[in-house]
Amino acid sequence: RSKRRGRGQITVYSREIAQEMKRATQLEQALRNAIIADTVDVHFQPIVRLADNRVVGFEALARWNDVDLGFVSPAVFVPLAEERGFIDTLSETLLRKAAEATLAWPRELFLSFNLSSAQLMDPRTTLNTLSILNSVGFDPRRLELEITETAVMGCADTAHRIFSELRDFGIKISLDDFGTGQSSLGRLRDFTFDKVKIDRAFVSAITTDRTSEHIIKAIVTMCEGLDLEVVAEGIETVAEADRLRALGCGMGQGYFFGKPADAAATLRYLSEHHHEFALVDRASS
Ligand code: C2E
Ligand code: MG
Ligand code: MG
Ligand code: MG
Repeated sequence: RSKRRGRGQITVYSREIAQEMKRATQLEQALRNAIIADTVDVHFQPIVRLADNRVVGFEALARWNDVDLGFVSPAVFVPLAEERGFIDTLSETLLRKAAEATLAWPRELFLSFNLSSAQLMDPRTTLNTLSILNSVGFDPRRLELEITETAVMGCADTAHRIFSELRDFGIKISLDDFGTGQSSLGRLRDFTFDKVKIDRAFVSAITTDRTSEHIIKAIVTMCEGLDLEVVAEGIETVAEADRLRALGCGMGQGYFFGKPADAAATLRYLSEHHHEFALVDRASS
């Protein structure tokens, strides 16, 4: 009996696995088509200086709204592109689009762009990145690349080399989702980062949970000592923004300041606040 049930379970599992693989392959094909059709888009979310709530830069976030599949989260399709070996193609498309859009913004604003773990294991990443910036005419000193601790751990030696090559060109490196990975403090000692982004998990608990508040306070103090800039992610309320400002956190990002929006909406937003920026027109930049 038990043997029969065992076999039955195996059949059920393998059917589920087969279905899952089929779904992933359909998604992969649709994503590859979307890249070719150039329908994977990039949106931008403002990052502000908490002292005066002024926008200092934007993070680029990938967006894919498929005609058949509907909205697919980058938390789904980015890992898929990594697994199936075409994250470089996807990322190059996104970086080109993001850099082109950024050319129309005031010069003092930076662009923050997410790198995936596979790209930190690929020695061609530096050259690929620089050649895209060069072809767009984008100043590398305006670019920041976000990476997660987990991604750095995957291939420390190559990542180390890529970081120092990129930093030679003035590109900054941000440690994303800080506090959620493993051996956070060790990462800070072994690698040279310019900025730390405190994960939303701590930020969303800051007004209700003393522990999160203490952790944020400690991160801010530590970053001051290490001469690192700090961004709090996922700020949704005025209370959170006020608390973080009081704790000395330099920058913030979240729905409270602005949700990710497409290039046109971002440009409209910037021109409505033109008194705060020295807007440059694209042709003259
Ligand atoms: P991330 O880099 O940590 O990006 C922040 C995520 O938090 C974004 O989710 C953003 O929309 C969301 N977010 C921002 N403010 C708030 C807030 O106040 N409340 C809440 N609940 N969420 C907020 P999104 O756009 O879904 O991206 C998810 C993840 O996918 C990103 O996390 C990043 O790891 C990855 N990703 C997105 N775009 C790219 C890309 O172009 N390349 C790579 N390699 N990864 C990307
Ligand atoms: Mg990020
Ligand atoms: Mg993050
Ligand atoms: Mg994240």
